[in-house]
Amino acid sequence: MKIFIDPGHGGSNPGAIGVNGVAEAEVNLDVSLRLGELLAGRGYDIEYSRVANNAVSLQGRADMANAWGADYYVSIHCNSNPDPSIGGTETFYYREGTTAQRFAETVNTALVNQINLRNIGTFARNLAVLRLTKMPAILVELAFLSNPSEAYLLSTSEFRQNCAVGIFNGIVQFTS
Ligand SMILES: [Zn+2]
Repeated sequence: MKIFIDPGHGGSNPGAIGVNGVAEAEVNLDVSLRLGELLAGRGYDIEYSRVANNAVSLQGRADMANAWGADYYVSIHCNSNPDPSIGGTETFYYREGTTAQRFAETVNTALVNQINLRNIGTFARNLAVLRLTKMPAILVELAFLSNPSEAYLLSTSEFRQNCAVGIFNGIVQFTS
C-alpha cells in the first residue's frame, strides 16, 4: 500500500503564519514526517512531495504522486481565518460520492478523536492537488494558526505527534 504524503507549502511560500510566528510550512513538514514514520513502521510504502523546506509546485506534487502510482494521497496543511476565534479541524476532497470523500470522513473523524478540537467536517473543494491527482486524495487542515490557542498547540511536538497519530489511525482504519 503506497501512501503519498504532501506537506503543504515550503521554500519561498511559508503558508499561513501563526499569531505566535510559527510557519505553516514547517508544521506541515514536521507532522508529515511523523505520519510517514508511523506508516512505514506499519509496513506502508511512503513517498513525500518534500522532506525539507523547499518549494514544489502544485502540479509537481500531483505529478510525483501519479508517477509513483500512489494508492492514496494525503496533503497536510494548517488553516487560517481573519476571525481569531475560529478553530477546529476540517478535511477536503475533490468530488462528492467518491472513495476520497469516504477516506476524508474516516481520517477527519480519527484525527478529531485524537486531538479533540472542533470537528468542522469534510467538504468537496476544487483544490489543485486534489483535482490533478489520479488516486483518492484528501487535504487535511489540522487546526487554525490564526487562533491563539491552536497556534500554540501547533508549535508543540506533543500536539504534532497527536496529529500524526490521528491521521495514521484513520489511514489504517480505511485501508485495512
Ligand atoms: Zn496551507
